Order: sequence, then C-alpha cells, then structure tokens
Amino acid sequence: MITFTAVTKRFGDGTVALDNVSFHVEPGELVVVTGPSGAGKTTLMRLLIRDFLPTEGEIMYKDESVTAMPAGQVPFHRRKIGVVFQDYRLLSELNVWENIALPLSILGKPESEIESRVTDLLSLIGLTERALVFPKQLSGGEAQRVSIARALATGPSVVFADEPTGNLDKQASLSIVKLLQQINSLGTTVLLATHDVTLLAHLENERQLDLEHGQLVHDSRPSPMKTTTKTEESKAKTPVKTAVETLDESREAAAPPIKPAEESAAKPEAKPEEEPEEKSEKPEKSATEETATPKKSSKKKPTKKVKTLKTKVVEDEDLAQEFTPVTATAPSAKKTSWLKKISGGLPSIKLPAVGKKSPKPEKKET
Ligand code: ADP
Repeated sequence: MITFTAVTKRFGDGTVALDNVSFHVEPGELVVVTGPSGAGKTTLMRLLIRDFLPTEGEIMYKDESVTAMPAGQVPFHRRKIGVVFQDYRLLSELNVWENIALPLSILGKPESEIESRVTDLLSLIGLTERALVFPKQLSGGEAQRVSIARALATGPSVVFADEPTGNLDKQASLSIVKLLQQINSLGTTVLLATHDVTLLAHLENERQLDLEHGQLVHDSRPSPMKTTTKTEESKAKTPVKTAVETLDESREAAAPPIKPAEESAAKPEAKPEEEPEEKSEKPEKSATEETATPKKSSKKKPTKKVKTLKTKVVEDEDLAQEFTPVTATAPSAKKTSWLKKISGGLPSIKLPAVGKKSPKPEKKET
C-alpha cells in the first residue's frame, strides 16, 4: 500500500531530515513510527501526503507514484490519507458535529451521507452526547478523538497520526492509542508517529519503524519490499475495507427495513434520497455501539435533533456570541464565504467550488 524506496529529504538549509529510507506497509497494518524529536517522523508524513517532494527516491501509494503525481492530483491523493495532528486543529467556532462533518461538507456530500457518517463516527469515538459542544469545552483527550473522527470522515484508507498524544496525560494517551487500534481493527491502515516511551511500552506488539537522525535504524517486522509495477500491484490488491466502509456496511445491515411511523409523521418532507446505495434512514444501532458510549436513540434524523439542540446550547450556555449559524449539511451558496474562510484552517483539504453538488475531481483523475 505504501512504499518508500531509498527516500532522502534534504531541506534548503542543508538539513537531511530523511536519509535513504526504504520500507513497505501492507493494507490493514498498524505501524508505529518512533524516534526522538527531529528524527524525521513528520517529514515522513509530509512526504506521504505530498506536502513536498523528496530530494531522492520514490514513494508509492497503492499503484500510484506520489513523487511523480501531477500537482492537480495531489488534493485527491490527500483525501485518501487522514492526518491527525498533535494540536488537534479543530475549528473553535464549530461544534463537535460540525468539525467532523466539515470535510464532507466541503466536498459537497449529500446531507443524508453526512448525517449517517457523523453519527457513526461520534459513536465510534464515544462522544455522541458531546456532539453539540464546542472545542474549548472538550478535554484534550476528547478533542483528539474528534480530530481522529474528522480525519476519518472522508473514509481514507490510511490514517497518519503524528504525535497524537503529545499534549495528553497518560490515561488519555492510552485511550487514544486504543481508539487507533480499534480503527485499525476495523480495516484502516494506521501509521502512528510517537516518541512517548510510555506509549511505546503498550505498543510493543505492533510493528515499529525506528528513525534516528533521518535514518531508519530498525524495522521490527518488515513487510517485503514490492517491485511496484502497476499490474503486480493491482493483482496484489486485497479487498481490505476501511474502518468507514465497515461502519457503513454494519449500519446498512442494522437499519430497520421499515421506517417507523412516528418518524415518517415527523418528517413529512423527507423524500427518498437520490442515492439508492446509501441508506437515508437513521440506523437503529451502529457497528461500534458496544464499544462506544451508548446512545439514547438514533431513530430521529440528526439534522432535526441537531438544530433543536443547537438552539438549546445557545440559550442554555450563552454561547450565542461564538455560535456560528451553520449546519453540517452540504454547502449552499449562502455558506460560500463561511467555507472559504474556514477552509484555510485545513491544509490538506482543497476547497472545491462550493454549492456544487458533487466534486468533479473524481472525473479528472481518469
Ligand atoms: P520529528 O517529526 O521526528 O520531530 P521532523 O521530521 O519534524 O522530525 O524533522 C526532522 C529534521 O528536519 C529536524 O532536524 C528538523 O529541524 C528538520 N526540518 C523539518 N522541517 C524542516 C524545514 N521545513 N526546513 C528545514 N529543516 C526542517
């Protein structure tokens, strides 16, 4: 899935951040990237998302050369890799729900898809009941969980968590590691960069890549390097599902075949959605509910619930000043300026022409 072949990154000032690094990661692996501060962990992540190019060497993602990728394809490549940062990078003026929904909203995804995806992700991270609070009301551990959910929102095949526990206490750190392990067990490939020795003790059964001064000094369980011709890579593709695909499938399997009468009555305007393959009804239960905080009821359409609760939050907690009257749904023309403004905060997401229903990018790729 990911192959670095003899990758060196030398910055303009002469610093060699990565030095002749080679490794291969198979789909579905969890790989811990370790090494002291300055060892090259972040550089590795930035190379993988093509934030910059290596000085030498080649990087492959699935059957695509990241290094040779035309600049126009980079935004689409970045959507396949969710990045989690040490400092969370949540948008303070958006609540938890809206922060998670943001990448989907920017991509112009249909409301029904956003609702079901965010509901599942909130359940996964165990923060369903905190959907309507704002980042400053969250603990560090909760904020990082939200940031992980946001990284997963677009259904990336890989999540790269760069020192995700750097600002957390031990207990919260371990809980973040467990969440990443759970996401990995649901199918998403996870790269976890950390130099936290306490965490490493809990990760000793995972594959570890140890970096020192930019060199890969140890790989505890190397995957054989691939000679990546397109044909071989396609043949080798295993149908590993991502965590989000697993959640989607479980939701569809668990969804009630008949819509409850009360719901139909409550939403007379609800017409069948255009997307036949996606369930527009709310699921009874999501795949991960056993492991996450129990939800009260997920029968109601989140939009209605969210709108009502939003009002409550504003009234009850006097958050009117910081409350931004936006919904987590697909952007309308009115939201154009809002989206343009906040999109600056998400470096890996390029803002499409907002107001358009579906992203054209997919077409461009071919
Ligand atoms: P880590 O994430 O392991 O702390 P980094 O990948 O951030 O390490 O950095 C590796 C080395 O590259 C460090 O010496 C750092 O100072 C240097 N470095 C990182 N980014 C740049 C840059 N943009 N310009 C120059 N040097 C850099």
